[in-house]
Amino acid sequence: MIIDRAEVVVTSPDRNFVTLKLTTDDGLTGLGDATLNGREMAVVAYLADHVVPLLIGRDAHRIEDTWQFLYRSAYWRRGPVTMAAIAAVDMALWDIKGKAAGMPVYQLLGGASRNGLLAYGHASGKTTDELFDSIRSHQEQGYRAIRVQTGVPGLKSIYGIASNATYEAMEGVRYDHEPAQRGALPAEEDWDTRAYLRHVPTVFEAVRNEFGSELPLLHDAHHRLTPIQAAQLGKSLEPYDLFWLEDVTPAENQEALRLVRQHTTTPLAIGEIFNTVWDYQQIIREQLIDYVRSAVTHTGGISHLKKVLDYAAQYQIKSGMHGPTDISPVGMAAAMHLGLAIHNFGIQEYMRHGAKTDQVFQQSFTWENGFLHPGNNPGLGVELDLDESGKYPYVQAYLPFNRLADGTVHDW
Ligand SMILES: [Mg+2]
Repeated sequence: MIIDRAEVVVTSPDRNFVTLKLTTDDGLTGLGDATLNGREMAVVAYLADHVVPLLIGRDAHRIEDTWQFLYRSAYWRRGPVTMAAIAAVDMALWDIKGKAAGMPVYQLLGGASRNGLLAYGHASGKTTDELFDSIRSHQEQGYRAIRVQTGVPGLKSIYGIASNATYEAMEGVRYDHEPAQRGALPAEEDWDTRAYLRHVPTVFEAVRNEFGSELPLLHDAHHRLTPIQAAQLGKSLEPYDLFWLEDVTPAENQEALRLVRQHTTTPLAIGEIFNTVWDYQQIIREQLIDYVRSAVTHTGGISHLKKVLDYAAQYQIKSGMHGPTDISPVGMAAAMHLGLAIHNFGIQEYMRHGAKTDQVFQQSFTWENGFLHPGNNPGLGVELDLDESGKYPYVQAYLPFNRLADGTVHDW
């Protein structure tokens, strides 16, 4: 089973996606997601110029050997571009192996450890009323766990709020829950940490009063706080029993989380911008987090993220894989197979893709009563319609960035 062909497909149905498609000499195909939001074309070049030529002629069965070859032979290691490219190859090879075996990938990873994957969605609103409507609408869609983000009085726009009014006047389209803005330049947003820290606990108090104590609630601070501000937020949210508080600090400084841990028992989730097990070494060993936020797509694929999660399992740290709309249906399928197989699954982030995306990527997963299942098709269970994908060429799009009131650039 030799890799005969490798194609990098860029398509932008509702947003940009980068997909690697491998074909073997006996006609099996495999797909891998290599989408890096706002830096898509860097991964395209890495794959097309430096990885595709190395894959032709290799044995498609040798997943681990190919991973190690791509990682070590590059000499330059880690980083989001490298690890997204390797992830796409890894996913595509698992897809092929599943098809060759006639089994879904989760069976090759040890079989199902549960019946389905608890998933959370993103409720948001500029006001409390809008937020409540959004939570109710998510519950009607079956969600049993909900991330809560709201506007902050005095700030024009803020991370995680769907359909910001500020974008409507700008060029391009911002579709629901998608922060990347189509256009030549990143959008500028504003930020005020003190206003945010005052406001957020009042929102969670209102949500608990309205929706009761049972509903699992999550919140994302999106890397914007200093360690002591993060500690303050975790402490102030303790009465509202969060499932997790995400990305409280930028997390490159992992020791900072020791300080946060000393002050709060609110569970912490981090890692969506980490790429390897080495990025997690200290925070897992010192038990500074409760959930690993990595996506299969950005962490070297199924093979490597499984190593991260097996390491985390020793410390009772669970998975909380990244699943916003910039994880393609292929990357989401990979997350579902991995999440179904591992013992230390926690929760899966799940936002629905747009209708055009669902036409480009034919999928076999199920979503019932708040639980995801990858389905039982051989491989990952996703096929790419090249005719459909060809209708939507790449469109430049960037994530926004923040400035403080005095003009200083801040973490977004
Ligand atoms: Mg996040």
